[in-house]
Amino acid sequence: MVQQASTERDILSTIQDQNDLVEALRSGVAGRVLTADDAEYDEARTPYFPVRIGKPVAVVRPKHADDVSRVVDAARRTGLPLFVRSGAHHAAAHSTGNGLLIDLRSLNNIDLDIAGQTAWVETGLTAREVAWALEPHGLAIGFGDIGSVGIGGLTLGGGIGFLSRLYGMTIDNVLAAEIVTADGRVHIIDHEHEPDLFWAIRGGGGSFGVVTKFRYRLATVRQVYGGPLILPATPATISRLAQACAEADDALTVIPTVMPAPPMPFIPSELQGQAVVMAVVCYAGDPGQAEEAIRPLRQIATPVLDTVQPMPYAALMDDETPFRGHPVAVRATFADHIDESVGATILEGLNRSDSWLRFVQFRVLGGAISRVAPDATAYAHRKSPIMMIIGRALEDDQLAARQWTEELAAALYQGDDGAYINFFGPHHSDWIEAAYPGETLTRLRRIKATYDPMNLFRNNDNIAPT
Ligand SMILES: Cc1cc2nc3c(=O)[nH]c(=O)nc-3n(C[C@H](O)[C@H](O)[C@H](O)COP(=O)(O)OP(=O)(O)OC[C@H]3O[C@@H](n4cnc5c(N)ncnc54)[C@H](O)[C@@H]3O)c2cc1C
Repeated sequence: MVQQASTERDILSTIQDQNDLVEALRSGVAGRVLTADDAEYDEARTPYFPVRIGKPVAVVRPKHADDVSRVVDAARRTGLPLFVRSGAHHAAAHSTGNGLLIDLRSLNNIDLDIAGQTAWVETGLTAREVAWALEPHGLAIGFGDIGSVGIGGLTLGGGIGFLSRLYGMTIDNVLAAEIVTADGRVHIIDHEHEPDLFWAIRGGGGSFGVVTKFRYRLATVRQVYGGPLILPATPATISRLAQACAEADDALTVIPTVMPAPPMPFIPSELQGQAVVMAVVCYAGDPGQAEEAIRPLRQIATPVLDTVQPMPYAALMDDETPFRGHPVAVRATFADHIDESVGATILEGLNRSDSWLRFVQFRVLGGAISRVAPDATAYAHRKSPIMMIIGRALEDDQLAARQWTEELAAALYQGDDGAYINFFGPHHSDWIEAAYPGETLTRLRRIKATYDPMNLFRNNDNIAPT
């Protein structure tokens, strides 16, 4: 299904210089066009991790897909680089640059079909906003672990979070999408309509066009049993936690981060600065079974803090991280197992740095994630059982931070060469082949060549056309 974008006025017919372009955009789009003179401009061009901050000629906040189409046309005709921002959380700061910036936050509508348990959700929304909008209806979409992340980038890259073991990755719950391609056309795509393009945007990232809305399948999720459980970090506790996660029912997901305990009042002073395991728990199964499901976690060691309790799923999305505003060197890698020797390697690695921000997070995957065939979507790592994410603040010493992250990733390497674009760092543009092994990348490149042969959408974890 292709809807031709409205073309009643060619916004580029009067372009002389950048000012003319801005004026043409202002008269051509229904949404807002910001420039350096506007108060909101600085915030609009600043990403979550400000590893760089671009100076766009204009920031366009579209009202609908036709507005997006006009900006895409403008970028194509002028040759100005095009940037797309949903939640601006990507660690490589792809959502800013010198050129034209489409800031999707103005696309924030949810069209909910409660009886059918589906919703069209516009891509300017964050995971938290969607979670709270669905909460009164006892419905949810599984995104990640932090609510401020944009649903645009997260969904396009795959989406692994608290509900993935039970209901699949975010992309496994995408039923359709509205996308503006490089020629400015607006498409509604699904399994029957342009299935190749629909396959590519489920894990292939932002290289194929600007997705203005997704249609998601909604899960019934009322109260969950969730919150942080902090354990002392030893090789044994790390290994036993990983084992408990792997043996748990799919309804239980734990996202543990091994890191120095922050100086917070609820952490005993003798533990502050010492490594702890901050495990965020989410049990989304039968509430009557929750205590029993969580018990193995509580038996690993006497918790430093245990606030796991009944709560709305959306409340789990209210947590923030200390990262905002601080660029990080980050590296994600897949693993088969976390035994005591892996736990010891994690702790030794953390001890080798004194950065204020350093961590190793691990996520036991499996469940519904692994029940989807590796070639069913562009995310091919369905059989990798564990993901580890290693990070350190870049700002103390960029080179040392990168070196520490890569060295620890190498020490934790277990033979799985895969990578996940949602956790690419600022220096991983050459990791595309690891993210998309073999035939996956060949197919993505072929689809890219069909829809964007000139690589207009290149400011992302880019898939170049064949
Ligand atoms: C604190 C934190 C926690 C995270 N937790 C998780 C997690 O639990 N699970 C997980 O899977 N990931 C997680 N991530 C990674 C996150 O999914 C990626 O960084 C993702 O790219 C962020 O999406 P965004 O829209 O916020 O970012 P943006 O920087 O706005 O976008 C990321 C990329 O996607 C492109 N893009 C965004 N929207 C569109 C669109 N609508 N159409 C076309 N291109 C688009 C952008 O151009 C950019 O290249 C986390 C990141 C952070 C910072």
